[in-house]
Amino acid sequence: MCQEYKDKYRVKGGDDDDDSNENNNVVLTRNYKEYFLKQPDTDELCRRCGKESETIQHITAACEQLATTEYVKRQDGLAKIIHQKLAEAAELIEDKSPYYKYTPVSVLENESRE
Ligand SMILES: [Zn+2]
Repeated sequence: MCQEYKDKYRVKGGDDDDDSNENNNVVLTRNYKEYFLKQPDTDELCRRCGKESETIQHITAACEQLATTEYVKRQDGLAKIIHQKLAEAAELIEDKSPYYKYTPVSVLENESRE
């Protein structure tokens, strides 16, 4: 992977001495297609919002189109995991269902904790 691209977009992974594995860590964003693969006629703008360059950083944390939906779902999913682990640690729940099936309730209590 070219060092200039890595420096500009802080791409991690891939070893410059081992080109055989470098594509295992690459997501084919439009920015990558235009600036690394140098594909002609590539529009580098995000295919959701069309306003910013489509980089991993933009897709995972900065796209205004994803902010109200996907980022909220991701944050809520993380909060559910924390809720479940804290409730288990405090012995407020006994259900050991997988995190993706867990539905938190707003108030939990037992004999020792209210
Ligand atoms: Zn976007």
